[in-house]
Amino acid sequence: MKTVDQHLADCLSAVDTLSPLELRLLDAHGCTLSEDVTATWDLPPFTNSSMDGYAVRSADLAGASESAPVVLPVVGDIPAGYSGALAVSPGQCARIMTGGPMPAGADAVVPVEWTDGDIVQVSITKAPQPNSYVRFQGEDASQGELIVPSGTRLGPAQLALLAAVGRARVLVRPRPRVVVMSTGSELVEPGEPIAGGKIPDSNSFMLAAAANAAGATAYRIGFVPDEPKQLITTIEDQLIRADLVITTGGVSVGAFDVVKEALGRMGTVAFDRVAMQPGMPQGFGTIGPDSTPIFTLPGNPVSAFVSFEMFVRPVLRRMQALEPLHRPTVRAVLQSAVQSPDGKRQFLRGDLDVEDGRYVVSTVGGPGSHLLAGLANANSLIVVPDETTHLSAGDAVTVIMLERRAG
Ligand code: AMP
Ligand code: MG
Repeated sequence: MKTVDQHLADCLSAVDTLSPLELRLLDAHGCTLSEDVTATWDLPPFTNSSMDGYAVRSADLAGASESAPVVLPVVGDIPAGYSGALAVSPGQCARIMTGGPMPAGADAVVPVEWTDGDIVQVSITKAPQPNSYVRFQGEDASQGELIVPSGTRLGPAQLALLAAVGRARVLVRPRPRVVVMSTGSELVEPGEPIAGGKIPDSNSFMLAAAANAAGATAYRIGFVPDEPKQLITTIEDQLIRADLVITTGGVSVGAFDVVKEALGRMGTVAFDRVAMQPGMPQGFGTIGPDSTPIFTLPGNPVSAFVSFEMFVRPVLRRMQALEPLHRPTVRAVLQSAVQSPDGKRQFLRGDLDVEDGRYVVSTVGGPGSHLLAGLANANSLIVVPDETTHLSAGDAVTVIMLERRAG
């Protein structure tokens, strides 16, 4: 039997970071930038008004008040997007909207709220400071300045900034495209009747969602029955759009363990027993003309989940050049005793909490690898080391923090 660490190392050594690709902005959302982006121009690109009001020469308004308003002629309108050459001479003003370019001669904006709003002769009841309500060219960033460094994960604000400096496309690490398929002649689509020993396919939903959450774009193929030919054809048809393939089921020692049978014959996937519980039967290798990596995970849902967490997620992060590869762990106080098989690393579903300023963790459901309801109620995985067979309440354990449950 292989250790978890050895199997992970084997999987990681077989994959490379995906080559950078130029993507349109929205397609790049969530991807890692792979170029240094500098400001194409100053931000803001020109000096403009931050209020709807009047562009004025502040000296003209010294002493303006409620009791002694200053009245100025309005020489024109400057809406946002204005490209004319209006200038403000002493004793004049121009009506200006938020984002409108400051006219030559003006050094301040009077908000419309300080005026009677007239469009011919405006009466102003308060004196502005010089520069007030003016947004200056380059005050956010200067032309040529590094504004989004390579390695940045692109979220909404970064996309907005890239757009603001005129970038329609950027070079990023693409999302790995992950084809997910279940195997099993017992499987039906959720919503179909389950008479006659059938069960809905849950793994492909779980793994497609997990792959998406890990930064990939998942394609859920659904399921194929335990027929070697159909399995091979389906995988071959999908390779064209896959950076990684994940199958579940059919890798143990049962009579109809078709994945092992079909891919084992092609000789590119190694089927191993990994010293872990759940998730002992694992397959990993490469397949097809582009040597596409393929994980053949066990069929029990909790086994498939834990296998994804331990092996597939780090591989997906490596493909995206994301660090760290692993989820955060904490040490927590175990709330009740647990038994664990000798020589296997056990991953128990945990409910991690903080009590009196320290982490405490309890098990959720039993250790069975079919206990999907328990998994759905867990927020963490408790790691029981390979050689440990018993832990008591009060012992310290390592806990892997999963993403928080929705809601
Ligand atoms: P296998 O690894 O194919 O022997 O499957 C092990 C157990 O997991 C069996 O009880 C299967 O019915 C169940 N199983 C396999 N694939 C899925 C799936 N996609 N969704 C839900 N349960 C599954
Ligand atoms: Mg099966």
